[in-house]
Amino acid sequence: VFMSVKCSAANKGVFSAAVRANKQIGQRFYRLGLEFSGAGAEAFDNCKAGQFAELDVSSTALPPAEAIPEDLVDVAGRKILLRRPFSFCDVTAKENKTLAEILYCVVGPATLRMTTLSAGDSVSIIGPLGNGFWVPDGKKRALLVAGGMGAGPLEHLAKVFTADYPDMEVIAFAGAKTVKELPFEARLDEISQQLGFFLGEFAKYGIESLVATDDGSAGFAGLVTDCLSEWLGKSDLAGENMIIYGCGPEQMLAQVAEIAKDK
Ligand SMILES: Cc1cc2nc3c(=O)[nH]c(=O)nc-3n(C[C@H](O)[C@H](O)[C@H](O)COP(=O)(O)OP(=O)(O)OC[C@H]3O[C@@H](n4cnc5c(N)ncnc54)[C@H](O)[C@@H]3O)c2cc1C
Repeated sequence: VFMSVKCSAANKGVFSAAVRANKQIGQRFYRLGLEFSGAGAEAFDNCKAGQFAELDVSSTALPPAEAIPEDLVDVAGRKILLRRPFSFCDVTAKENKTLAEILYCVVGPATLRMTTLSAGDSVSIIGPLGNGFWVPDGKKRALLVAGGMGAGPLEHLAKVFTADYPDMEVIAFAGAKTVKELPFEARLDEISQQLGFFLGEFAKYGIESLVATDDGSAGFAGLVTDCLSEWLGKSDLAGENMIIYGCGPEQMLAQVAEIAKDK
């Protein structure tokens, strides 16, 4: 672990990335595609799933008044003093470029400004930062548990498993308060309560998913952690062969830790 941390830290720096795309995928969700060249491409092609970067959007324009959600009208004009942290949902090294994608939710002044970024713009980014997810030896099954926006880095991890750990059986659990808060492109109203290839973001790596919403508007009715518990209750694989990765609200992570301890 020390070696990999050292290695990624050695490459970190301040880089400029070119925006390739900024696609809206739901009321409040976007996927921002970035392209790094030169030293930035080298630094980010090593980026591990779960690592993050700090974006400077202080001089990015606000959207027009009519495009600002009502609940953000009061905060929209705030000056952006600090960079904002984001992890990646996909990283691809391509020739001498590195393509990286961020799945983000519009929650305040900085993420509101991010929605106006468009192809050809450039963004200042510090990274890669943090340690990322770690895969211990001897595991046969990995469970990815995402709460809301936590899905992004777990999509990246799903890609890593498929590429580098072909024998690992992986299942994704994705939850949100309601169907509208699931950050995916699928026909979410068609999702059943069963395990299936409903979420294209995981299905493209051959990974099945279970979807949960607190209000039952899609998939399992209840918390994603209850969905996880129920599934584990039916699973015959021993706990020591399994690893659970979580990304989401703190309460969800605490509950995932409890469930893992019991198993
Ligand atoms: C390591 C790391 C990785 C992240 N990765 C992503 C990502 O991949 N996609 C994504 O959409 N967001 C991610 N975030 C959260 C993101 O940084 C914030 O949503 C963003 O900074 C909000 O900026 P803002 O100016 O739009 O809103 P602000 O005005 O700064 O915040 C708006 C509201 O969101 C709350 N909030 C802000 N940050 C967080 C947070 N980290 N957790 C819980 N509530 C928060 C604030 O309390 C406030 O109520 C990540 C955060 C961290 C620390």
